Amino acid sequence: MKVLKFGGTSVGTPQRMKDVVKLITDGEKKIVVLSAMSGTTNTLVEISDYLYKKNQEGAQEIINTLENKYRKHVDELYSTDEMKNKTKEFLKQEFDYLRSFTKGIFTMFEEKIIVGQGEILSTNMVTNYLIEQGYNAALIPALEFMRTDKNAEPDLEYIKDKIKVQLEAAGEKDIYITQGFICRNAYGEIDNLQRGGSDYTASLIGAAINASEIQIWTDIDGMHNNDPRFVDKTSPVGHLHFEEAAELAYFGAKILHPTCVQPAKFAGIPVKLLNTMDPTAAGTVISNETEKKKIKAVAAKDNITAIRITSSRMLLAYGFLRKVFEIFESYKTSIDMIATSEVGVSVSIDNTNNLNAIIDELKKFGRVEVDRNMCIICVVGDLESQNVGFESKATEALANIPVRMISYGGSNHNISFLINEENKKDALQALSDHLFNN
Ligand code: ASP
Ligand code: MG
Repeated sequence: MKVLKFGGTSVGTPQRMKDVVKLITDGEKKIVVLSAMSGTTNTLVEISDYLYKKNQEGAQEIINTLENKYRKHVDELYSTDEMKNKTKEFLKQEFDYLRSFTKGIFTMFEEKIIVGQGEILSTNMVTNYLIEQGYNAALIPALEFMRTDKNAEPDLEYIKDKIKVQLEAAGEKDIYITQGFICRNAYGEIDNLQRGGSDYTASLIGAAINASEIQIWTDIDGMHNNDPRFVDKTSPVGHLHFEEAAELAYFGAKILHPTCVQPAKFAGIPVKLLNTMDPTAAGTVISNETEKKKIKAVAAKDNITAIRITSSRMLLAYGFLRKVFEIFESYKTSIDMIATSEVGVSVSIDNTNNLNAIIDELKKFGRVEVDRNMCIICVVGDLESQNVGFESKATEALANIPVRMISYGGSNHNISFLINEENKKDALQALSDHLFNN
């Protein structure tokens, strides 16, 4: 069975909900994970904010406005009075429930319940629409199987057991709809997987049922080989290894968050990024397979600071790097790139909250130089299968760009360059022209 996830924009209007239904009613059995309609979770967060501030009236007002919006959606979505009435009754019950929080105490527990309501609304609406249109569909409630453990990590064994129970209870169906984002914690209280967590839900369900594939539907055609905001002619990447996707995500590509795809990665389930606006496009497949000897994509991360520590004391000494790293550690500052020579070491960081203190301490060990407004350019691809020429091709592309640092060999999937931010656009374009567009 496949797991398909549609985000807030994909279910953002009644028309978009109908478009989703067209995509999921191809006769193949599937589980469909839905986010809240776009904007709804933000509104629910706002309602909670008013309630924290004990402004019950403000909260009421927003709830009423939201309810009116949803009632209009219902008129637009359904064609039968029967389903309109049924869904409006459901809405009334859910919005009355929301209003009940405007009385009495308000804590984190109530907030968690409120922000999770968006997914309850969207999934019920889509399920009712499917049923109205005569499809064999059922809603399986995420709160009955999605659960985190005492460390607030997803409890995959629990999810496996309980989703099975829910699927059986729902009976033989073509389409099972469920909520993204929401879950219960180890104590059974309503909780969530953090903002944007619906991708995580899809990945977890995929792993729990050993899905053949997880599809993440958005409104772009997969992952591009470079940043379209800065570069002419980018194109979708057909396939990425999970590690390549993780490097790209970390270095700024707008792609799935790496922790979200962790369960799929461990279970070896391919994740496909597909486009609701162009459903027949191939999109991007992310899996544990490596496309041999290929350079895949480029991403850039801004606001990087480079620090060089040079010292003749480093010559033939041991323990120097440890002392340097301990300073960064004590200021909870993580290092992205590093390059060493016999007499010095350069590192890059993106968190400069404690930069002055760090520099002060580093000065005990050598001369310290700092370069601000730098940018990391990361090139990913297969280095595992002795991809001879990978690094020279990337370096050649940057022949006319001053490079401050190069990091290569740290993983099987990338080479990173540190350059000045002002050269970023030229560097990205040169890499695209050289690596992908000839
Ligand atoms: N609705 C939630 C949010 O807006 C979860 C999601 O969209 O993935 O963060
Ligand atoms: Mg969202």
